Amino acid sequence: MEEFCKSLPKVELHAHINGSVSEATIQKLLAKKKNSDQQFSFKKGSTGTLKECFEKFRLIHQLTDNTESVYQVTCDVIHEFHDDNVKYLELRSTPRAVQDTGMSRESYVESVLRAIQDCGDLDIIVRFLLAIDRRNGVKVGWETLRLAQKFQKSHGDLVVGMDLSGDPSVGDARDYLPVFREAQKSGLKLALHLCEIPAPEETMEMLTLPPDRIGHGTFLHTEAGGNQQFENTVLKNRTPLELCLTSNLIGQTVPNLDNHQFKFWYEKEHPCVICTDDKGVFSTSMSEEYQLAASTFDLKQRDLWNLSEQSINYTFCEENVKEKLRDQFKVYKSKMEEQFNIKL
Ligand SMILES: [Zn+2]
Repeated sequence: MEEFCKSLPKVELHAHINGSVSEATIQKLLAKKKNSDQQFSFKKGSTGTLKECFEKFRLIHQLTDNTESVYQVTCDVIHEFHDDNVKYLELRSTPRAVQDTGMSRESYVESVLRAIQDCGDLDIIVRFLLAIDRRNGVKVGWETLRLAQKFQKSHGDLVVGMDLSGDPSVGDARDYLPVFREAQKSGLKLALHLCEIPAPEETMEMLTLPPDRIGHGTFLHTEAGGNQQFENTVLKNRTPLELCLTSNLIGQTVPNLDNHQFKFWYEKEHPCVICTDDKGVFSTSMSEEYQLAASTFDLKQRDLWNLSEQSINYTFCEENVKEKLRDQFKVYKSKMEEQFNIKL
């Protein structure tokens, strides 16, 4: 299964740039900073405890405080997904301003988009979503939307949508409804982190937007303490769910993988997309997430193929790009059938 998952062409729709930064890139940035007082003691190959993961987040945050580093990490993350046979990648990130280094939210986004353009020769299609961090307040939310609109104009198809993320226990997602409504009017798609913790009031209203995809949605369904109305709405709208097994396990939003929400939605034949969330921080990869899904939920090779191929339908890119991907997948399909001697 390991080799199959590695060879499988994949579609990643939920990857935060900073959380995706690998240990190799961290070491590179540390060396550049020559900042010997910053101790980096994350055990290589370790899946990490939650505490270690927070440490890693904090360190990456410190290291990406300038546009050069933002450019560097974006390039590296794209190369790493490419090397893992990801053919289509949607990255997301919260534009960040750091006064000391002169980085503005705008130059942050510019650096990300420049990196995406400079990786244009690789066999991977990359798109970008600007994230609103609910810890930063609505004013910054509006500012982020303005940036998204601006770069949507200047960078053609690269900017495809917006995300709502950050600590789900902070603030109220409903405060951002007007921002997201305007984003929709501008043709930006919405991939929102929703119901990561039980939050019935805000979830109810956020679902009315409706979002184009939901990140995690851990507590949407009744079995997990959600309610019938959420469940029905999501099922009726066929809103795809971005599901990140390792992240949820280490983040302790699910008690164990057998009880992960993937099972509930997948059994209902609801659109599910396997994603990494933060592959660097959680020491995982798309191939490993597919393997984990296979072993946990007893999925066969054909099931994995279907999950990956169907993910193309839920991307935010233009229809002609989706078509191109579908054609590409057809070629891979026959190659894999031959390589693994199976009918997919
Ligand atoms: Zn996420």
